[in-house]
Amino acid sequence: MKCPKCKDSVLIRPLPTKESRVRQPYSCTDCGGMWVTREEMDSQDGVFTENPSLEPDADLPFDPDKRTGLCPLGHGLLIRARVDLDPPFFLERCSACGGIWFDKGEWNRIAENHLIDNLSDFWTSSWQRKHRQEKNRQSYLEMNKSILGPELYEEILRLADTLRDHPEKLRAMALLRQEILESKETAN
Ligand SMILES: [Zn+2]
Ligand SMILES: [Zn+2]
Repeated sequence: MKCPKCKDSVLIRPLPTKESRVRQPYSCTDCGGMWVTREEMDSQDGVFTENPSLEPDADLPFDPDKRTGLCPLGHGLLIRARVDLDPPFFLERCSACGGIWFDKGEWNRIAENHLIDNLSDFWTSSWQRKHRQEKNRQSYLEMNKSILGPELYEEILRLADTLRDHPEKLRAMALLRQEILESKETAN
């Protein structure tokens, strides 16, 4: 099994430590991250601890938390979820097999904050947040369409499309505003 974060590292099972006789999850000897399968997740009952002998290489050329990788079991890209602790970090999970990748230190932070039993919420809530934002935007647009009428609505959206990436969009908006207010003054 390959490490999702390191290019050429393989995952190994560290030997049980004196403190813990529990079979340890697969881990990477280069970045110190570990892969916990769904079965291990379900059966671990808070007994895993990160293996202290696995420290990230001092000269690791990248920050593992900034990367997303592939499932070590070959199911494709892992799905990230933000954990809003201070400082925040990301967990990665395989949506096919349910395995979760913990960069070095992440398991301990999750455990210290008693979040292990509710891990799947992280993926649900970030999905929901995105979904809700999209739904809010759709209903906002629908409301405006019905108030402004379809013709004006389409015209405004077309203009917005044109201006979105235009280098002089601020000037264009100022001109539009100016023209609207000018004509109002003249009409009054
Ligand atoms: Zn690694
Ligand atoms: Zn997988």
